[in-house]
Amino acid sequence: MKNYKIAVVPGDGIGNEIVPEGYRVLEAVAEKHGFSITSETFDWGAGYYLKNGKFLPDEGLETLKSYDAVYFGSVGLPEVDDTLPAKDYTFKVRTNFNQYVNYRPVRTYPGVQRPLRTEKHIDFVIVRENTEGEFVQVGSQYLPDSENGMGIDTSIFTRKGIERVAHYAFKLARKRRNKVTHITKSNTLINSLSYWDRVITEVAAQYPDVEHDQMYIDNSTASFVLKPEVFDVVLTTNLFGDILSDLGGAVMGSLGLGGSGNINPEKDFPSMFEPIHGSAPDIAGQNIANPYGQIWSAAIMLEHLGEIDAANNIMEAIDKSTSEGVLTKDLGGSASTSDVADAVIKNL
Ligand code: ATP
Ligand code: MG
Repeated sequence: MKNYKIAVVPGDGIGNEIVPEGYRVLEAVAEKHGFSITSETFDWGAGYYLKNGKFLPDEGLETLKSYDAVYFGSVGLPEVDDTLPAKDYTFKVRTNFNQYVNYRPVRTYPGVQRPLRTEKHIDFVIVRENTEGEFVQVGSQYLPDSENGMGIDTSIFTRKGIERVAHYAFKLARKRRNKVTHITKSNTLINSLSYWDRVITEVAAQYPDVEHDQMYIDNSTASFVLKPEVFDVVLTTNLFGDILSDLGGAVMGSLGLGGSGNINPEKDFPSMFEPIHGSAPDIAGQNIANPYGQIWSAAIMLEHLGEIDAANNIMEAIDKSTSEGVLTKDLGGSASTSDVADAVIKNL
Protein backbone atom coordinates (compact mmCIF):
# COMPACT_ATOMS: atom_id res chain seq x y z
CA MET A 1 0.00 0.00 0.00
CA LYS A 2 1.27 3.45 -0.88
CA ASN A 3 2.18 5.52 2.17
CA TYR A 4 2.66 9.28 2.43
CA LYS A 5 4.71 10.87 5.21
CA ILE A 6 3.10 14.12 6.26
CA ALA A 7 4.59 16.71 8.62
CA VAL A 8 1.74 18.33 10.54
CA VAL A 9 2.33 21.88 11.80
CA PRO A 10 -0.85 23.29 13.38
CA GLY A 11 0.85 26.59 14.37
CA ASP A 12 -1.11 28.96 16.59
CA GLY A 13 -4.66 30.01 17.42
CA ILE A 14 -7.34 28.18 15.46
CA GLY A 15 -4.64 26.15 13.68
CA ASN A 16 -4.74 23.88 16.71
CA GLU A 17 -8.44 23.24 16.12
CA ILE A 18 -8.80 23.08 12.35
CA VAL A 19 -5.62 21.14 11.51
CA PRO A 20 -6.55 18.05 13.58
CA GLU A 21 -10.04 18.11 12.00
CA GLY A 22 -8.56 18.36 8.52
CA TYR A 23 -6.21 15.51 9.36
CA ARG A 24 -9.17 13.35 10.38
CA VAL A 25 -10.64 13.90 6.92
CA LEU A 26 -7.29 12.93 5.35
CA GLU A 27 -7.14 9.67 7.28
CA ALA A 28 -10.71 8.82 6.33
CA VAL A 29 -10.21 9.53 2.63
CA ALA A 30 -6.93 7.57 2.60
CA GLU A 31 -8.70 4.53 3.98
CA LYS A 32 -11.38 4.79 1.29
CA HIS A 33 -8.90 5.15 -1.54
CA GLY A 34 -6.39 2.48 -0.53
CA PHE A 35 -3.37 4.45 0.63
CA SER A 36 -2.05 5.29 4.07
CA ILE A 37 -0.71 8.35 5.81
CA THR A 38 1.83 8.52 8.58
CA SER A 39 2.58 11.79 10.29
CA GLU A 40 4.40 13.60 13.00
CA THR A 41 3.13 16.81 14.60
CA PHE A 42 5.45 19.76 15.30
CA ASP A 43 4.57 22.56 17.74
CA TRP A 44 6.33 25.34 15.81
CA GLY A 45 5.07 28.90 15.40
CA ALA A 46 4.57 32.02 17.52
CA GLY A 47 3.84 30.03 20.69
CA TYR A 48 7.13 28.19 20.17
CA TYR A 49 8.83 31.57 19.62
CA LEU A 50 7.62 32.85 23.00
CA LYS A 51 9.29 29.90 24.70
CA ASN A 52 12.39 29.48 22.54
CA GLY A 53 13.11 32.82 20.83
CA LYS A 54 12.67 31.29 17.37
CA PHE A 55 9.75 30.04 15.34
CA LEU A 56 11.22 26.62 14.68
CA PRO A 57 14.32 24.80 15.87
CA ASP A 58 17.59 25.15 13.93
CA GLU A 59 17.26 21.66 12.51
CA GLY A 60 13.56 22.20 11.69
CA LEU A 61 13.95 22.65 7.94
CA GLU A 62 16.23 19.62 7.72
CA THR A 63 13.59 17.58 9.57
CA LEU A 64 10.85 18.66 7.17
CA LYS A 65 12.87 17.59 4.13
CA SER A 66 12.21 13.93 4.81
CA TYR A 67 8.42 14.37 4.45
CA ASP A 68 6.31 14.16 1.31
CA ALA A 69 4.36 17.29 2.25
CA VAL A 70 3.65 19.68 5.10
CA TYR A 71 0.08 20.15 6.34
CA PHE A 72 0.08 23.54 7.99
CA GLY A 73 -2.37 25.76 9.91
CA SER A 74 -1.21 29.30 10.55
CA VAL A 75 1.37 31.18 12.59
CA GLY A 76 0.74 34.29 14.68
CA LEU A 77 -0.19 35.49 18.16
CA PRO A 78 -1.07 39.02 19.25
CA GLU A 79 1.85 39.04 21.69
CA VAL A 80 4.43 38.31 18.98
CA ASP A 81 5.62 41.25 16.91
CA ASP A 82 4.53 40.61 13.33
CA THR A 83 7.36 42.66 11.86
CA LEU A 84 9.56 39.61 12.41
CA PRO A 85 8.53 37.85 9.20
CA ALA A 86 12.10 37.19 7.99
CA LYS A 87 12.52 34.95 10.99
CA ASP A 88 9.05 33.55 10.64
CA TYR A 89 8.26 29.89 10.06
CA THR A 90 6.23 30.45 6.88
CA PHE A 91 8.78 32.70 5.20
CA LYS A 92 11.60 30.25 5.97
CA VAL A 93 9.81 27.24 4.58
CA ARG A 94 8.56 29.00 1.44
CA THR A 95 11.96 30.39 0.51
CA ASN A 96 14.22 27.49 1.55
CA PHE A 97 12.01 24.89 -0.11
CA ASN A 98 11.64 26.89 -3.32
CA GLN A 99 7.87 26.95 -2.99
CA TYR A 100 7.69 29.65 -5.61
CA VAL A 101 4.03 29.10 -6.49
CA ASN A 102 1.26 30.05 -4.13
CA TYR A 103 -1.79 28.26 -5.51
CA ARG A 104 -4.98 29.87 -4.21
CA PRO A 105 -8.24 28.75 -5.78
CA VAL A 106 -11.51 30.65 -5.48
CA ARG A 107 -14.85 29.00 -6.14
CA THR A 108 -18.50 28.92 -5.27
CA TYR A 109 -19.59 26.67 -2.41
CA PRO A 110 -23.15 25.40 -2.81
CA GLY A 111 -25.47 26.60 -0.06
CA VAL A 112 -23.11 29.34 1.11
CA GLN A 113 -24.37 32.88 0.89
CA ARG A 114 -22.00 35.14 -0.99
CA PRO A 115 -21.75 38.90 -0.78
CA LEU A 116 -22.07 39.25 -4.57
CA ARG A 117 -25.39 39.46 -6.38
CA THR A 118 -24.21 37.32 -9.30
CA GLU A 119 -25.64 33.80 -9.39
CA LYS A 120 -22.94 32.71 -11.81
CA HIS A 121 -20.58 29.92 -10.86
CA ILE A 122 -17.16 31.23 -9.91
CA ASP A 123 -14.10 29.02 -10.33
CA PHE A 124 -10.65 30.47 -10.79
CA VAL A 125 -7.15 30.11 -9.35
CA ILE A 126 -4.86 32.85 -8.16
CA VAL A 127 -1.24 31.92 -8.89
CA ARG A 128 0.77 34.18 -6.64
CA GLU A 129 4.54 34.45 -7.01
CA ASN A 130 5.72 33.33 -3.60
CA THR A 131 9.43 34.06 -3.14
CA GLU A 132 10.39 37.47 -4.46
CA GLY A 133 8.90 40.81 -5.49
CA GLU A 134 7.68 43.13 -2.79
CA PHE A 135 8.29 40.57 -0.02
CA VAL A 136 12.07 40.18 -0.28
CA GLN A 137 12.59 42.34 2.82
CA VAL A 138 15.37 44.42 1.35
CA GLY A 139 15.38 47.97 2.61
CA SER A 140 15.90 50.07 5.69
CA GLN A 141 14.53 52.75 7.95
CA TYR A 142 16.49 55.97 8.30
CA LEU A 143 16.10 58.25 11.31
CA PRO A 144 12.70 56.76 12.11
CA ASP A 145 12.06 59.14 15.03
CA SER A 146 13.17 62.36 13.38
CA GLU A 147 11.39 64.81 11.13
CA ASN A 148 13.48 63.57 8.23
CA GLY A 149 12.78 59.92 8.86
CA MET A 150 12.02 57.56 6.02
CA GLY A 151 11.35 53.90 5.30
CA ILE A 152 12.40 52.19 2.10
CA ASP A 153 11.51 48.75 0.75
CA THR A 154 12.92 47.44 -2.51
CA SER A 155 11.00 44.99 -4.69
CA ILE A 156 13.15 42.55 -6.58
CA PHE A 157 11.87 40.66 -9.60
CA THR A 158 14.21 38.38 -11.52
CA ARG A 159 13.81 36.86 -14.96
CA LYS A 160 14.18 33.41 -13.45
CA GLY A 161 11.58 34.15 -10.76
CA ILE A 162 9.03 35.53 -13.21
CA GLU A 163 9.54 32.86 -15.87
CA ARG A 164 9.13 29.89 -13.59
CA VAL A 165 5.86 31.06 -12.03
CA ALA A 166 4.56 32.09 -15.47
CA HIS A 167 5.25 28.64 -16.93
CA TYR A 168 3.38 27.12 -14.02
CA ALA A 169 0.37 29.39 -14.65
CA PHE A 170 0.21 28.70 -18.40
CA LYS A 171 0.52 24.94 -17.89
CA LEU A 172 -2.19 25.09 -15.24
CA ALA A 173 -4.47 26.99 -17.65
CA ARG A 174 -4.11 24.15 -20.16
CA LYS A 175 -5.62 21.81 -17.59
CA ARG A 176 -8.45 24.27 -16.92
CA ARG A 177 -10.23 26.72 -19.26
CA ASN A 178 -7.15 27.88 -21.15
CA LYS A 179 -6.96 31.46 -20.00
CA VAL A 180 -4.35 33.43 -18.04
CA THR A 181 -4.97 36.96 -16.80
CA HIS A 182 -1.82 38.56 -15.48
CA ILE A 183 -2.17 41.41 -13.03
CA THR A 184 0.37 44.17 -12.45
CA LYS A 185 0.59 47.94 -12.18
CA SER A 186 3.23 48.62 -14.76
CA ASN A 187 1.80 52.02 -15.58
CA THR A 188 3.15 53.33 -12.26
CA LEU A 189 5.74 50.78 -11.10
CA ILE A 190 7.54 51.41 -14.33
CA ASN A 191 10.72 49.44 -13.65
CA SER A 192 9.85 46.32 -11.76
CA LEU A 193 6.39 45.62 -13.09
CA SER A 194 7.00 46.56 -16.67
CA TYR A 195 9.84 44.05 -16.57
CA TRP A 196 7.35 41.54 -15.18
CA ASP A 197 4.99 42.32 -18.09
CA ARG A 198 7.76 41.91 -20.62
CA VAL A 199 8.86 38.51 -19.34
CA ILE A 200 5.28 37.26 -18.99
CA THR A 201 4.53 38.30 -22.56
CA GLU A 202 7.57 36.34 -23.77
CA VAL A 203 6.44 33.25 -21.87
CA ALA A 204 2.87 33.67 -23.15
CA ALA A 205 4.17 33.46 -26.72
CA GLN A 206 5.25 29.89 -25.99
CA TYR A 207 1.61 28.97 -25.20
CA PRO A 208 -0.26 30.22 -28.30
CA ASP A 209 -3.21 27.94 -27.46
CA VAL A 210 -3.78 29.73 -24.13
CA GLU A 211 -5.68 33.01 -24.12
CA HIS A 212 -3.67 35.69 -22.34
CA ASP A 213 -4.73 39.10 -21.12
CA GLN A 214 -3.49 41.71 -18.71
CA MET A 215 -5.12 43.90 -16.08
CA TYR A 216 -3.97 46.47 -13.58
CA ILE A 217 -4.42 45.65 -9.92
CA ASP A 218 -6.87 48.51 -9.29
CA ASN A 219 -9.15 47.50 -12.13
CA SER A 220 -8.84 43.82 -11.23
CA THR A 221 -10.23 44.34 -7.71
CA ALA A 222 -13.34 45.84 -9.27
CA SER A 223 -13.60 42.89 -11.66
CA PHE A 224 -13.28 40.39 -8.79
CA VAL A 225 -16.52 41.88 -7.45
CA LEU A 226 -18.38 42.80 -10.64
CA LYS A 227 -17.53 39.94 -13.03
CA PRO A 228 -15.50 37.23 -11.23
CA GLU A 229 -16.70 34.63 -13.72
CA VAL A 230 -14.30 36.00 -16.39
CA PHE A 231 -11.23 34.66 -14.58
CA ASP A 232 -9.60 31.27 -15.00
CA VAL A 233 -5.94 31.55 -13.94
CA VAL A 234 -4.92 34.84 -12.34
CA LEU A 235 -1.14 35.30 -12.37
CA THR A 236 0.22 37.99 -10.10
CA THR A 237 3.02 39.18 -7.83
CA ASN A 238 3.58 38.34 -4.19
CA LEU A 239 1.95 41.47 -2.72
CA PHE A 240 -0.94 41.72 -5.17
CA GLY A 241 -1.59 38.00 -4.76
CA ASP A 242 -1.70 38.37 -1.00
CA ILE A 243 -4.32 41.09 -1.26
CA LEU A 244 -6.35 39.49 -4.03
CA SER A 245 -6.61 36.20 -2.19
CA ASP A 246 -8.27 37.80 0.82
CA LEU A 247 -10.67 39.41 -1.63
CA GLY A 248 -11.12 35.96 -3.20
CA GLY A 249 -11.97 34.58 0.24
CA ALA A 250 -14.55 37.31 0.75
CA VAL A 251 -16.03 36.63 -2.70
CA MET A 252 -16.52 32.99 -1.66
CA GLY A 253 -18.38 34.07 1.48
CA SER A 254 -15.72 33.87 4.23
CA LEU A 255 -11.96 33.91 4.69
CA GLY A 256 -12.40 30.55 6.39
CA LEU A 257 -13.33 28.92 3.07
CA GLY A 258 -10.04 29.36 1.22
CA GLY A 259 -7.49 26.57 0.85
CA SER A 260 -4.04 26.92 -0.67
CA GLY A 261 -0.74 25.32 -1.55
CA ASN A 262 2.80 26.66 -1.36
CA ILE A 263 4.07 24.59 -4.22
CA ASN A 264 7.48 23.46 -5.34
CA PRO A 265 6.55 22.27 -8.83
CA GLU A 266 9.83 20.38 -9.37
CA LYS A 267 9.14 18.41 -6.17
CA ASP A 268 12.78 18.62 -5.07
CA PHE A 269 11.50 19.79 -1.67
CA PRO A 270 8.17 19.16 0.04
CA SER A 271 5.30 21.56 -0.64
CA MET A 272 3.17 23.03 2.13
CA PHE A 273 -0.62 23.29 2.31
CA GLU A 274 -2.52 25.77 4.46
CA PRO A 275 -5.73 27.81 4.56
CA ILE A 276 -5.49 31.38 3.23
CA HIS A 277 -6.44 32.96 6.53
CA GLY A 278 -4.38 33.61 9.65
CA SER A 279 -4.52 32.13 13.14
CA ALA A 280 -7.64 34.16 14.10
CA PRO A 281 -6.77 34.49 17.82
CA ASP A 282 -10.06 36.36 18.35
CA ILE A 283 -12.06 33.14 17.91
CA ALA A 284 -9.51 30.53 19.04
CA GLY A 285 -10.37 27.89 21.61
CA GLN A 286 -14.14 27.94 21.03
CA ASN A 287 -14.56 25.16 18.44
CA ILE A 288 -16.32 27.65 16.12
CA ALA A 289 -13.59 28.21 13.51
CA ASN A 290 -14.51 27.31 9.95
CA PRO A 291 -12.35 24.33 8.86
CA TYR A 292 -13.51 24.13 5.20
CA GLY A 293 -10.42 25.99 3.94
CA GLN A 294 -8.16 23.70 5.94
CA ILE A 295 -9.98 20.63 4.61
CA TRP A 296 -9.78 21.99 1.07
CA SER A 297 -6.01 22.41 1.62
CA ALA A 298 -5.86 18.67 2.33
CA ALA A 299 -7.48 18.05 -1.06
CA ILE A 300 -4.97 20.34 -2.77
CA MET A 301 -2.18 18.41 -1.03
CA LEU A 302 -3.53 15.06 -2.23
CA GLU A 303 -3.82 16.40 -5.77
CA HIS A 304 -0.17 17.48 -5.61
CA LEU A 305 0.79 14.01 -4.36
CA GLY A 306 -1.06 12.45 -7.32
CA GLU A 307 -4.11 11.15 -5.40
CA ILE A 308 -6.59 12.83 -7.74
CA ASP A 309 -9.61 10.62 -6.97
CA ALA A 310 -9.18 11.14 -3.24
CA ALA A 311 -8.83 14.91 -3.75
CA ASN A 312 -12.03 15.01 -5.84
CA ASN A 313 -13.77 12.89 -3.25
CA ILE A 314 -12.99 15.48 -0.56
CA MET A 315 -14.31 18.31 -2.75
CA GLU A 316 -17.55 16.45 -3.45
CA ALA A 317 -17.97 15.73 0.27
CA ILE A 318 -17.37 19.40 1.07
CA ASP A 319 -20.02 20.46 -1.47
CA LYS A 320 -22.49 17.95 -0.09
CA SER A 321 -21.88 19.17 3.46
CA THR A 322 -22.35 22.86 2.67
CA SER A 323 -25.47 22.12 0.63
CA GLU A 324 -26.88 20.19 3.60
CA GLY A 325 -26.44 23.39 5.62
CA VAL A 326 -23.48 22.30 7.74
CA LEU A 327 -22.22 25.85 8.19
CA THR A 328 -20.10 27.50 10.87
CA LYS A 329 -20.88 30.81 12.57
CA ASP A 330 -18.95 32.94 10.04
CA LEU A 331 -21.29 31.51 7.37
CA GLY A 332 -24.41 32.23 9.40
CA GLY A 333 -24.77 28.68 10.72
CA SER A 334 -24.27 27.03 14.09
CA ALA A 335 -22.13 24.00 13.24
CA SER A 336 -18.95 23.58 15.28
CA THR A 337 -15.51 22.97 13.81
CA SER A 338 -15.77 19.26 14.53
CA ASP A 339 -19.38 19.04 13.22
CA VAL A 340 -18.03 20.13 9.83
CA ALA A 341 -15.30 17.48 9.77
CA ASP A 342 -17.84 14.83 10.88
CA ALA A 343 -20.15 15.84 8.02
CA VAL A 344 -17.37 15.80 5.42
CA ILE A 345 -16.21 12.36 6.59
CA LYS A 346 -19.78 11.03 6.46
CA ASN A 347 -20.16 12.41 2.92
CA LEU A 348 -16.94 10.94 1.52
P1 ATP B 1 -2.48 36.88 8.75
O1 ATP B 1 -1.64 38.09 8.91
O2 ATP B 1 -1.84 35.62 9.25
O3 ATP B 1 -3.03 36.75 7.37
P2 ATP B 1 -4.78 38.28 9.68
O4 ATP B 1 -4.35 39.33 10.63
O5 ATP B 1 -4.99 38.68 8.25
O6 ATP B 1 -3.74 37.08 9.72
P3 ATP B 1 -6.87 36.34 10.23
O7 ATP B 1 -6.32 35.48 11.30
O8 ATP B 1 -6.88 35.80 8.86
O9 ATP B 1 -6.12 37.73 10.28
O10 ATP B 1 -8.32 36.78 10.65
C1 ATP B 1 -9.05 37.85 10.05
C2 ATP B 1 -10.51 37.75 10.50
O11 ATP B 1 -11.14 36.62 9.85
C3 ATP B 1 -10.68 37.53 12.00
O12 ATP B 1 -11.78 38.25 12.48
C4 ATP B 1 -10.92 36.04 12.12
O13 ATP B 1 -11.69 35.68 13.22
C5 ATP B 1 -11.65 35.70 10.82
N1 ATP B 1 -11.31 34.34 10.40
C6 ATP B 1 -10.14 33.92 9.86
N2 ATP B 1 -10.14 32.61 9.64
C7 ATP B 1 -11.35 32.14 10.05
C8 ATP B 1 -11.96 30.84 10.08
N3 ATP B 1 -11.32 29.76 9.66
N4 ATP B 1 -13.21 30.74 10.58
C9 ATP B 1 -13.87 31.83 11.00
N5 ATP B 1 -13.36 33.08 10.99
C10 ATP B 1 -12.11 33.25 10.52
MG1 MG C 1 -4.09 38.18 6.25
